[in-house]
Amino acid sequence: MTKKQLATLKKLLLERQQEILRQFGASSDDIGKLQEENVADWVDRVTLDDAVNSLMSKESDLAKELEITIESLSSIEKGEYGICEECDKQISFERLEAVPAAKLCIDCKNKLERQQNRVINHRGPSAIPSEMFEFDE
Ligand SMILES: [Zn+2]
Repeated sequence: MTKKQLATLKKLLLERQQEILRQFGASSDDIGKLQEENVADWVDRVTLDDAVNSLMSKESDLAKELEITIESLSSIEKGEYGICEECDKQISFERLEAVPAAKLCIDCKNKLERQQNRVINHRGPSAIPSEMFEFDE
């Protein structure tokens, strides 16, 4: 990944983060802090941690996304961004552009989704235990 591509993805993450914070009703002061260049600085700030913690209890889906977005931004600072958690390969720029907070490459994501679908199907309505029918016979 080129530096320019990384900068593009960082911008996408920062924008997404601001959008989420806005949905949580963060003040413009808080959002202003997040526009600072050095992300690592404010990630470590206790005040921001507190803010994130209080947001966590509000809406878990959004809070989860915010957490992942912050993690991605901090991994950019550490130079670990864009590496698949499963297979340690570089995630393609195209995928990251579509999903900047992606932690899995497309192969590993598809594999995981197939596994999850299997679990869902297994527990679905079609998987009623056979003994429920054998009772009446
Ligand atoms: Zn992978």
